[in-house]
Amino acid sequence: MKLKGKKAWITGASSGIGQATARLLATEGADLIISARREERLKELADELRAMGRDVTVAVVDVSDRKGMERVAALIADQGGVDILINNAGTMPISPIINGRVDEWEQMIDTNIKGVLYAINAVYSGMAERKEGYIVNISSVAARLTYQSAGVYSGTKHAVRAISDTLRKEAIRFGVRVTDIQPGSVDTELPDSIAHDKIRAAVKDNMYGENMPNLQPEDIANGILYALSQPAYVDVSELLIRPVIQE
Ligand code: NDP
Repeated sequence: MKLKGKKAWITGASSGIGQATARLLATEGADLIISARREERLKELADELRAMGRDVTVAVVDVSDRKGMERVAALIADQGGVDILINNAGTMPISPIINGRVDEWEQMIDTNIKGVLYAINAVYSGMAERKEGYIVNISSVAARLTYQSAGVYSGTKHAVRAISDTLRKEAIRFGVRVTDIQPGSVDTELPDSIAHDKIRAAVKDNMYGENMPNLQPEDIANGILYALSQPAYVDVSELLIRPVIQE
């Protein structure tokens, strides 16, 4: 087991990539703190992981809630810190910028950027004190490219990539490594967060169309484990993982 004796906090563990990563890290021996807003989903997952012999804490929190994230930080400190953060929670209510859906812009910025920063802040000082830690941020292929109707989402993911690369440079001398994972199209519940009916239908068509077999959440979890499993002198700075057919 590659992660025996390690403890990881996974945000957005109630579905998709976060859930698959929780299962894989538990299989590799890690104890876990799993967080999201949907408590029932987290409890079911926790039962499954505990049955594998892992120690699991459920933390129900909205990552955009600064005070809530400070409470998780305190819980983590009480438990003696975590070795690994999988900064995964994210949302994608996309629409053309020219439609001016300001509430959705704020939701993406608050969740995908501020949430990522709050989580980093919750774990970093503990990792730096121990001179060892690993922060994995999940951005997207949209951290490199832009797509019509996805300008704000893409902006948030460009921000995550920039934050990851800066943090990598700042934190490495304190023993904390950083990886930015950039998934292409993955079969998850993410398109359900699109409130714009036409765009949601179009994205689902694309994502689930016969001609474009998507990645599965496990494919991204495998990439995360690859990064985490490298020896201490190796930094997997970025990992772009796409379905073969995706541009
Ligand atoms: P899912 O919708 O399946 O999972 C998103 C997770 O984030 C859920 O567990 C959800 O839990 C959590 N979440 C969303 N908003 C919040 C919030 N405000 N506070 C706390 N938790 C929140 O999608 P994916 O697994 O696909 O997404 C995971 C990450 O991967 C995201 O950052 C996404 O942007 C990124 N990504 C996904 C791609 C894809 O094609 N699927 C491609 C590229 C990147 P809950 O609702 O219970 O709070």
